[in-house]
Amino acid sequence: MYSWTHKDIYKHLDTLEQLARIETDISKKCYYLETVNSIRQILKRDEIMCNEDITQDMTSILMSISSDYYYNQRYYEIIKDFYDIVSVYNEQYNKLIKKVGTADSKIERKHYSNEETLTIARDFYRSINSEIYSYFEKMYNERYDTIKFKEEYDELERFSISGFCIFIDIIDKNYILVKDEPGIYKLKNIIHECGHGIANYIYPKASVLRKNDFLSEIPSLFFETLFLLESKSLEAPLANFTRMDYCYDSAIELSRHEKIVNAWENNMYKVNNKFYKNINKKYNLEPFEVDNSLSTSIDDDGAYIIGQFVVYKLINIYRNDKNLSLELLKKIIMSQEKDAYEVIGSIISNYDGVDTEISQILRLADECSNKILIKEY
Ligand SMILES: [Zn+2]
Repeated sequence: MYSWTHKDIYKHLDTLEQLARIETDISKKCYYLETVNSIRQILKRDEIMCNEDITQDMTSILMSISSDYYYNQRYYEIIKDFYDIVSVYNEQYNKLIKKVGTADSKIERKHYSNEETLTIARDFYRSINSEIYSYFEKMYNERYDTIKFKEEYDELERFSISGFCIFIDIIDKNYILVKDEPGIYKLKNIIHECGHGIANYIYPKASVLRKNDFLSEIPSLFFETLFLLESKSLEAPLANFTRMDYCYDSAIELSRHEKIVNAWENNMYKVNNKFYKNINKKYNLEPFEVDNSLSTSIDDDGAYIIGQFVVYKLINIYRNDKNLSLELLKKIIMSQEKDAYEVIGSIISNYDGVDTEISQILRLADECSNKILIKEY
């Protein structure tokens, strides 16, 4: 019977490594070392795949998280910065979560008709500037053909999203679907999706070239956040807080990826009791926290966190210099995916103002919850 185990091969590799060490012919030496390295790599991969201790599912998740982590390390750093800035407000923030939740459940929500919703969106985009408005107007004029609101939203629910925008550049049309929710959510959702539509008109290539990149949510979140901040509606601060809460939560999960990847590597790429024990001992993370963190991905959630982070900066600029902030937004829209990091970096190279916006959102959410909760009694 022919059989071999990884142990046997490692033994040969050790011998080969020793040979390489004493070899004086440089080309031979390099050849030996290269062989050793490539075989070690293959074995490692093989070992990960063949390990019986782990379910295939968990292994593939960890493999993709670890390659995502090394590939997107620069973006993980930005997310860590966002997390650090928000955590300054941790105490205030934790108190608010409960309060906002209670206030949100007590609020009376108006149901906006489709026509009302689009009229509000039109007034909002008209207030930005004539160029942005011209793009919105195109979508508005075609609204009966290209925009729809959907109450039953199987396809939305499945992906737990509140809308989407698909751009078809050969016919120059944005197709938009928005969840028909009560209250301000319907308004902010249409403004968000039209933000994607506007970006598609400004730079039609973007929708083809940039899939899942870290710039794609910036225009939509910019207009959404601006709308919520300017809205006189009582619900707006709650919706703004909820968005920030989602970003902060996901940032916490993503900041754990590095720890989990390290622990996994140190545990010889095995997911077993020892792996969870090590994480708990070293980082004080419970198994359910590890699992939660693994279901958050840099591609899906990262774009929203980075988007919101950049948007806080842009909104702060907008308050003092509207034209400059819109110029920066256009620069972001027109940049290529490969420049994403540089563009984000040049805009948030200093975090001045981000703080102000975050504390403002917390303060408004607090005030608004008080009003709603006091009104009750
Ligand atoms: Zn979006």
